Amino acid sequence: MAVDSATLSHFVGGEWLSISEGDHTPDLNPSDATQVLAQVPQAGPQTLDRAAEAAKSAFRPWSRGTGQARADVLHRAANVLASRRDEFAALMASEVGKPIGEAGMEADRGVMILRYFAEEAVHPNGSVIPAQQAGSIQFTLRQPLGPVAVISPWNFPLAIPLWKIAPALTYGNTIIWKPAEVASLTAHRLVEVFAEAGLPEGVLNLVLGKGSVLGDALVNHDGVRAVTFTGSDGVGARIAKSASRRNIKYQLEMGGKNAALVLGDADLDQAAKLVAAGAMRFAGQKCTATSRAIVTSDTVDAFVERLTQQIKALPLAPATDPGSAVGPLITQDSQEKVRKYAEEGARSGEVVLGGSKPSDEALQEGYFFEPTVIVGVAPDATVAQEEVFGPLLVVQRAADIAEALQIANGTKYGLSVSLFTRDINAALEYIQEIECGMVRVNGDTTGVDPHAPFGGMRGSSSHSREQGPAAIEFFTETKTVQINQAG
Ligand code: NAP
Repeated sequence: MAVDSATLSHFVGGEWLSISEGDHTPDLNPSDATQVLAQVPQAGPQTLDRAAEAAKSAFRPWSRGTGQARADVLHRAANVLASRRDEFAALMASEVGKPIGEAGMEADRGVMILRYFAEEAVHPNGSVIPAQQAGSIQFTLRQPLGPVAVISPWNFPLAIPLWKIAPALTYGNTIIWKPAEVASLTAHRLVEVFAEAGLPEGVLNLVLGKGSVLGDALVNHDGVRAVTFTGSDGVGARIAKSASRRNIKYQLEMGGKNAALVLGDADLDQAAKLVAAGAMRFAGQKCTATSRAIVTSDTVDAFVERLTQQIKALPLAPATDPGSAVGPLITQDSQEKVRKYAEEGARSGEVVLGGSKPSDEALQEGYFFEPTVIVGVAPDATVAQEEVFGPLLVVQRAADIAEALQIANGTKYGLSVSLFTRDINAALEYIQEIECGMVRVNGDTTGVDPHAPFGGMRGSSSHSREQGPAAIEFFTETKTVQINQAG
């Protein structure tokens, strides 16, 4: 079906494909849902087969080329992205409602990720292991997997795809990328960056469409040799099942129920400021967002007073407003889901801030929800156990560090956590006992350096790590090679 210029395209084998194997989906601005940004086409079996074929054909020349050639492409992509930084910031603000200041930081992070993995392309990719046989040489060689499916969420529409795509490319894999449908426009623009950087055709293929249909078909496609996924735990569990059935490698980064533990000796002003930011910026829609504050009982009142002041200072405004800090939820369904969690939380604790949609006339066309704080919520309440993915923080009381740790470890998740204290012994105990992949002391639960390993424990992850030196583990396989003397 031919389409107009406002319609996005798939990118397959180096060609923009203006076809749709189903009805287009409107891509809306969540700060003002009357604004349609683009029309998203649906990739069906035909487009997916073409993408798989392109990724297969491109694999040998790309993987057998030099690391330097791959590094050059990634460096050029970094330069192109840096030159379009402000455009990407504005785009992410409009498309996924990320406050524009943070969206700019995400674009900067994308550039850093590309530069890091460009360098990785010429770093050692194996090691020499002494052989038992005299005169022999033995070594390991890390080799790429083949065509890899990248399935990414909407909330970091640039950084998360890049921390999958950049290492996949640098180690010699080819890619079929399915972004979240509501982030299709950012994905389309990011593929333009790689095309402009001279990435050979077929190495990166973009297919657009719905996760429940296209994502499922991609994971189960015979041409896919591995799947890297970030998103919700329900979808992750489904992908794990399909990938295990075919015995292909998979990587899942999923949800969190991240806690900030605040002890009586903490700098309460610092703790309140960082917990407010971690919980409410970008409307709490980060996998690492602070969702629970677990506070020693003698400190709750003083902490909550400071916390609510800090939260009130964060502007709730359309994401494209330069001062916006909180922004909208991504969809009306998400807004309704957060409202229900707030309602349930109010039955178990005391709502001291927010609790409903804002009444401000200027925000009525968007999916906004007031930053909400509920104090005294029981650890087994649904709102204290499930990922809300919205601007809602529960405050829980604990007698001491031991009880705080027990509450913190008492959900199925284990992604990110922070502890506020000046007590070195409490901090050491916490670092040992907490069951999370990313652990802070006197810091925010959100934001991890782009070159540091990223990932969770328990229900938050399939236990591999992304980013930095950890990325090679997933995107390559080890061959053990021995070369003996000829007889
Ligand atoms: P999601 O609904 O699970 O979607 C993630 C991706 O999977 C999207 O591209 C989606 O496509 C696709 N998908 C949906 N159903 C699928 C299926 N049956 N088979 C294959 N793919 C499918 O998650 P989201 O709402 O985009 O993102 C929010 C979630 O991601 C939260 O739980 C958050 O904690 C988590 N997250 C985790 C991390 C981390 O590193 N741990 C980072 C960021 C976000 P459609 O969008 O087109 O449906």
